[in-house]
Amino acid sequence: MFDKILIANRGEIACRVIHTARQLGIRTVAVYSEADAAARHVKLADEAWLLGPAAPKASYLLGDKLIDIARQTGAQAIHPGYGFLSENEDFAAACEAAGIVFIGPPASSIAAMGSKSAAKQLMERAQVPLVPGYHGDDQDPALLAREAARIGFPVLIKASAGGGGKGMKIVEHADDFASQLASAQREALASFGDDKVLVEKYLTKPRHVEIQVFADQHGQCVYLFERDCSVQRRHQKVLEEAPAPGMSEAQRQQMGDTACNAAKAIGYVGAGTVEFILDTLTGAFYFMEMNTRLQVEHPVTEMITGQDLVEWQLRVACGEPLPLSQSTLRIHGHALEARIYAEDPTKDFLPAIGKLQVLRTPATSAQVRIDSGVVEGDEISPYYDPMIAKLIVWGEDRPAALRRMRQALAEYRIVGLTTNVDFLAATVAHPAFASGDVDTGLIARHRAELIPDALAASPQVLAIAALAELANIAQMAEQRRTHSDDPTSPWNDAAGWRLNEATHVELHFRDTSGDRAVLAHYRNGGFIIEIAEEKIMCELLQATDGQLRVNLAGRQLTADIIHHENELHLFVFGQHHILQRFDPVLDGLDEQDDAGSLRAPMPGTVVAVLVAAGQPVEKGQPLIVLEAMKMEHTIAAPAAGLVAELLYQVGERVNEGTELILLNTET
Ligand code: ADP
Ligand code: ADP
Ligand code: MG
Repeated sequence: MFDKILIANRGEIACRVIHTARQLGIRTVAVYSEADAAARHVKLADEAWLLGPAAPKASYLLGDKLIDIARQTGAQAIHPGYGFLSENEDFAAACEAAGIVFIGPPASSIAAMGSKSAAKQLMERAQVPLVPGYHGDDQDPALLAREAARIGFPVLIKASAGGGGKGMKIVEHADDFASQLASAQREALASFGDDKVLVEKYLTKPRHVEIQVFADQHGQCVYLFERDCSVQRRHQKVLEEAPAPGMSEAQRQQMGDTACNAAKAIGYVGAGTVEFILDTLTGAFYFMEMNTRLQVEHPVTEMITGQDLVEWQLRVACGEPLPLSQSTLRIHGHALEARIYAEDPTKDFLPAIGKLQVLRTPATSAQVRIDSGVVEGDEISPYYDPMIAKLIVWGEDRPAALRRMRQALAEYRIVGLTTNVDFLAATVAHPAFASGDVDTGLIARHRAELIPDALAASPQVLAIAALAELANIAQMAEQRRTHSDDPTSPWNDAAGWRLNEATHVELHFRDTSGDRAVLAHYRNGGFIIEIAEEKIMCELLQATDGQLRVNLAGRQLTADIIHHENELHLFVFGQHHILQRFDPVLDGLDEQDDAGSLRAPMPGTVVAVLVAAGQPVEKGQPLIVLEAMKMEHTIAAPAAGLVAELLYQVGERVNEGTELILLNTET
């Protein structure tokens, strides 16, 4: 076994690898960018080396520098994690040439699967079933359009070099083909430096079922069963599980054997995932791609097999045979993973950035696992993937795992940036997911229930918010009194209004539905809280730091309260409610103008300017396209008008909030 390894990655996966290395007594070398100087993976490793500035090209993608550091530190092997250089055949070859073990497949296997098109040509020869499509080298747009027509709409355009859902476009009608092709090519070129695409039949109700394979250097290959990753948004995984619901033993074996054949066809070694798309109507499955690395969702496989896949990777990389044979591998129970992201489900899952002001997580155990690279106080920056954590749970069967997941999600407390936690909770609780009848359209189909837009706080929530405020006011007054010279001053009397039955307190909160006024009357040791026409008898039973125990019309419950700037964050009824405190007289109700903002929603690069100065535009007309983090964002006209001035050109970088275009609107 190795004595020392270097981990050429960051975030949760770097932490994950360090964890296993430590258990095996292997010393670890971490690397970091300037933005990550204080990151968790840096602190966990035995030593950590600076690579360079935040941008991956200036840090985590510097192959030569990584190899240099490995040499200097005496690391015998490099674990690439996922993303970054993990599927870079040149890097794998350079490691080999430098006498450092690349913990992954041989460079030739990465090359074979690196291009989705070339991989499909290879798989076709190995008799692995493929989705009907075109994956040739000729990229003439007219030819691609003809191929699309031959395949039959809807079709899917994919970047050959693609990954992470980038450069992927669904085309419903022939009319849209040319513009969608251009967009896919643009994204592909920006993300992968290669605008080659393939076109294939778009299956309308498929499932994403993938097989975990493992091969050693002695010609053995096994499969560690399947994962269902059908629950996706923007073609990217949100919830993953193992085993796949409803999978028959016969189909599992058939898919497993096919995946092993695919791996053998390219002389594979190490951990790999063969992704299939499964037609729910016919049960037929087709090869989609092979990811030649450890996958984000590998923990669900670990939970049901009881194996440590990073340990397997390390053993295989130093020449040991596979720890188990196919016949000794077993599925035990059911595991689910939820990817907790900094993103806004109400804005088409736009990645969010900011500081994790508060990050409280559910308790971990043998059944609840959290893989994360961040701690409270860390930033989610625009430079890297906005994943906060992976929450993985195990149960003896799927319903048990679901219950555990629901509970764990409800225990998350994140303040400071927008997350998908409530969306995940709603998805896990939704009957469509609970029934196990999943497909890749699940989120889109149930969007309205999973992502309720502008959720107005209920009277119960407002009542709890009012109690929190009253407790807060009382506490502040109490503090002032104990610190003031004249403790008897009426100005310092916290309970003053409580003594007078007629006294009431008027509080104002603002939520997505506007100004919410709450009137609290003191009555018999409790309150009557009035919200619009509704009256609720309430009692504040206990107020400890950050937690309220309340009685709402006879129903006792606990709510977590976090004050952040002028916001009140309330965690109750399994949801995160955000209310702004305001004074209607002082603050006024300033009109919100960000609905059709012509400002950059986050730092990014202008990739297309779709209009010219002086041009008349209609409301909703796309004006400019921005590439930020993992996707393209189209900035559209908030109202009809005339383009006055273009402030940026293609290729320019813009900061968050930068005005992109001047528009003279008619209103
Ligand atoms: P895929 O989406 O390609 O099928 P995964 O579900 O395993 O495979 O997701 C891997 C994705 O994670 C990559 O496409 C990459 O964009 C992204 N990624 C890369 N590096 C990191 C990282 N250090 N932390 C989190 N995500 C990363
Ligand atoms: P990536 O490299 O981004 O992971 P994939 O080829 O694995 O790209 O596809 C990502 C997702 O897109 C799949 O998980 C699936 O949900 C969807 N998808 C891919 N191909 C098809 C198809 N032919 N029909 C319908 N959906 C597809
Ligand atoms: Mg994929």
